[in-house]
Amino acid sequence: MRAVLVINAGSSSVKYQLLDPVTGQSHARGLIERIGLPTGAVHHTVDGVRHEQQLPVPDHEAAMHLLTRAFTQHGPDLSQVDLAAVGHRVVHGGADFADPVEVTPAVLATIERLVPLAPLHNPGNLDGITAAREAFPDVPQVAVFDTAFHQTMPEAAATYAVPKVWREQHRVRRYGFHGTSHAYVSRRVAELLGRPLEELRTVVLHLGNGASATAVEAGRSVDTSMGLTPLEGLVMGTRAGDLDPGLAGHLARVASMSMDDYDQALSKESGLLGLTGSADMREVMARRDEGDPDAELAFQVVVHRLLRYVGGFTAVLGGLDALVFTAGIGENDPRVRAAVVDRLAFLGVELDHAANEAAVRGVEGRISTPGSHVEVWVVPTNEELEIARQAAAVVEA
Ligand code: AMP
Repeated sequence: MRAVLVINAGSSSVKYQLLDPVTGQSHARGLIERIGLPTGAVHHTVDGVRHEQQLPVPDHEAAMHLLTRAFTQHGPDLSQVDLAAVGHRVVHGGADFADPVEVTPAVLATIERLVPLAPLHNPGNLDGITAAREAFPDVPQVAVFDTAFHQTMPEAAATYAVPKVWREQHRVRRYGFHGTSHAYVSRRVAELLGRPLEELRTVVLHLGNGASATAVEAGRSVDTSMGLTPLEGLVMGTRAGDLDPGLAGHLARVASMSMDDYDQALSKESGLLGLTGSADMREVMARRDEGDPDAELAFQVVVHRLLRYVGGFTAVLGGLDALVFTAGIGENDPRVRAAVVDRLAFLGVELDHAANEAAVRGVEGRISTPGSHVEVWVVPTNEELEIARQAAAVVEA
């Protein structure tokens, strides 16, 4: 069996999946968590059975050792697998990577150089790659970047109107994230519509704990809501999304707030959490049902921000053929979808309310009426499959 091992390594966890890049079949998946803490754990799921073991995992090297051991103990036996590649998710590829690449020492050095742009993510990604190279020395390692899909954005969309020295010396520009998901979903919806990617104008709403919107024209990202960092754009679980850049100076003056505290508050204590006390949309919606005014306001703010992006991106695209919802909230929450789509009636969009209510997680489905001028779909994202496909394509090229 031919497969790709996809690895998503963070600073304290390694998620993995072994899958067939052609059929998309998943052979096994797992998670090694709480790396570096006294209480670690390994979860390995194969044939629907989840195996779990609690033990300390000192570092990424130990995590990779436990990963290979989980395959030896519970299967599938990696010595019987034709492992085409190990595909790594890397968050920030800067302006250096518009495509996935096979990992070389030069590539590792570039990812390292990009750490200041993604200090929370790239170091963990690098640790995962280094450990995987040691664990699988004979298998090509491929880096697939979250930012790569957005490298097609025109300069007008990627440029912040800030001093030249910031742009040139500090690489300050918009990069965008969730690119693997936006690439997968925008291509998949073209297949579902049976129309060539080249003639479609699509807005993809990836609404998970992190959330972003992307405008896709002829299969290329032409604008996206996240920017230099994943903080810009939509309201997220714990991130504020768009706000007035004057806020940093204001809080420094009135509250003597440090930049570190400001960063921390905007990425970990804002968004749904800041508005309601919970970062979990399910809980926010449950409280809204009970009449909680904070939860109601949070819902309205989330929807309002979404409308600004969908409306703006429709203008950027010069029209809209398809609107697609994906990720935890996008796939599961009919009320967020309805609130957005119903406000787009002026574009000739018409929601099929029964289909919207009936949509279930993990299933692709159209939720617009046959007469709607814009197709509206729920398309579950599959970032692992997209990484596996891109990694296999690099190796086969
Ligand atoms: P993700 O990061 O893609 O796993 O998405 C996580 C987000 O999806 C969280 O805010 C969850 O509360 C939200 N979510 C998951 N299931 C539901 C649901 N049934 N209704 C509303 N939100 C949900």
